[in-house]
Formats: sequence, C-alpha cells, structure tokens
Amino acid sequence: RAKEVGRNNLQLFDAEMAAKVRAKLRRHEELRDAVARGEFVLHYQPEMNLKTGRIFAAESLLRWQHPERGLVAPADIIPLAEETGLIVPIGDWVLNEACRQNRAWQDEGLPPIVVSVNVSARQFRERNWVSRVAQALEESGLEARYLELELTESLIMQDVGAAIATMHELEALGVHLAIDDFGTGYSSLSALKSFPVRRLKIDQSFVQHVPGDADDMAITGAIISLAQKLQIEVIAEGVETQAQVDFLQASGCDDVQGYFVSRPVAPTEFVTLLAGL
Ligand code: C2E
Ligand code: MG
Ligand code: MG
Ligand code: MG
Repeated sequence: RAKEVGRNNLQLFDAEMAAKVRAKLRRHEELRDAVARGEFVLHYQPEMNLKTGRIFAAESLLRWQHPERGLVAPADIIPLAEETGLIVPIGDWVLNEACRQNRAWQDEGLPPIVVSVNVSARQFRERNWVSRVAQALEESGLEARYLELELTESLIMQDVGAAIATMHELEALGVHLAIDDFGTGYSSLSALKSFPVRRLKIDQSFVQHVPGDADDMAITGAIISLAQKLQIEVIAEGVETQAQVDFLQASGCDDVQGYFVSRPVAPTEFVTLLAGL
C-alpha cells in the first residue's frame, strides 16, 4: 500500500511539474512576443541633490505595458528575461530608449540631466557590450556624460578582474558608473577602491528604517563616510519621509531618490517635474 501511495504521489507530482513547465513556457513565449511587439516602456524616477534641491538625474525603470495585465513591474520581467536570455534584447532596448529619450528632452530645451540605466550581469558579460553602449550614444546623439550605468556588487564580483577591465573601457567612453543596491553584496573594501565608479547608491533596505533603527543608521552613516573618503558621490534610495531626508542630510549624503521626491513616472509626467525646476 505504501508503494501504491508513493506511486500515486509521484504521478500527481509529475502532472504538477508538467503543468508548471507548460505555464513557464507560455510566459517565455509571451515575453518573446512582447519584445517583438515593443510592449515595453520606461518610467523615470528623479534624483534630487540635497544641497541645491534640484533634480539633476533620473533612473530609468522598465515596465511592460501588458495588453491584459496592465503595467507589469520589473520583478515579474527581469528574472524571466535573465533565464531566457531575453534580457539581452530587452536590455539593448532599454539602453537605446533611455539615450534617445534623454537626448530628446535636451533638444526640447529642458535642463540637461543624467539618465541612468540598470545593467544585468548577463548583458554586461556580452562580448561586445562596450561597443553596444558606444553605438547607443552615437545613434542617439547623446553625450556620454549624460549616461550612467548602474552595476550591482554581485555583477562585479562574479569576475572582478574582467569587470574592472570593462568598467575602465566604459569610463574611457565617458559614461558614468554607479554601484546599485550598495551594501547588499559582498564587494570587499579593497576591491571597491579599484572600481572606477562615480557613486554609490545605498540600498533602500538600509534607508527604510532610518532614523530609528540604530543598526541601519550606523550602516547608512558608514556607507556615506566611506564614499566621502573615497571621494565618490553617494545617493540614498527609497527615501520616503522628511525624517529620512533630515538624517541623510545631517550625515552628509549628497543626493536622494524615492517617493519623497517622486515615484517613477511616465516620460510626459517626468517632463513636468523637470520643467518645474
Ligand atoms: P533598483 O535599480 O534598485 O531600482 C529602485 C527600485 O526601488 C524601483 O523598483 C523603484 O520603483 C523602487 N523605489 C523607488 N523609490 C522608492 C521608495 O521610496 N520606496 C519604495 N518602497 N520603493 C522605491 P522597480 O521599478 O520595481 O524596479 C525593481 C528593480 O528591477 C530595480 O531595482 C532594478 O534592479 C530592476 N530593474 C528595473 N529596470 C531595469 C532594467 O531596465 N534593466 C535591468 N536589468 N533591471 C531593471
Ligand atoms: Mg537601479
Ligand atoms: Mg537599487
Ligand atoms: Mg534594488
């Protein structure tokens, strides 16, 4: 009997597995179609300097305008895209679109800003990645200094030597580099010294509980002074309240990004934020 029960369970398990595999294949296909149909859009979240109160940059954030499900967030796109390799064409689209949009804003006479693009590990490892970046700049006519690429610590640490070499090539193009979600990875402090980065973005998980949580206050404060000592800029992500701003300002943080300033918004709405300078 035990054997029989085991066999039945196994059959049930197989059926479940098969259903899961089918569902996954469907989602892959759907994402592939979305790439072909051009169903992606970028939203932009402003970054504000704490000294001047000005918006000087924006992060581009991927959204999928799904015909039935509405606006789909990156958490439901990126893992699937990485798994299928679709992150490469999607990432190319993001890079080109962010450059095109930023140049278009400049052509409209808006104050020039830096637009940053999130880079996935798979994209970064593509053999011709640096020339793709150069091509995106050339085709859009955007000056390199108005493009920033956000890399995570884990992306860099996968192969530090190769990553540093690529980072230097990107730096030579004139684009800026930032380390995203800083504090959540394992980059050693000695490695950090050799990264040609312009700034650190403090992960929102630390920022979330300041002021109030003594540990997070200590960590956030330590990252800010680390950046100051390395003479690179530092921005706090996920800033939602005045109390957080006050703490960050007192700690010497350069910039903030988060709902306190604005949620990520569609390009037309971003223009009104930018024009309101
Ligand atoms: P990230 O690069 O760390 O982006 C910041 C995330 O925090 C965004 O989530 C943003 O909407 C959210 N956020 C901003 N301010 C606040 C705040 O005040 N409170 C809270 N709770 N959240 C805030 P989003 O847009 O869902 O993106 C999630 C992640 O997906 C990004 O994290 C990034 O790692 C990835 N991602 C987004 N766009 C792209 C892309 O084009 N390419 C790649 N490879 N990854 C992307
Ligand atoms: Mg980012
Ligand atoms: Mg981040
Ligand atoms: Mg993040």
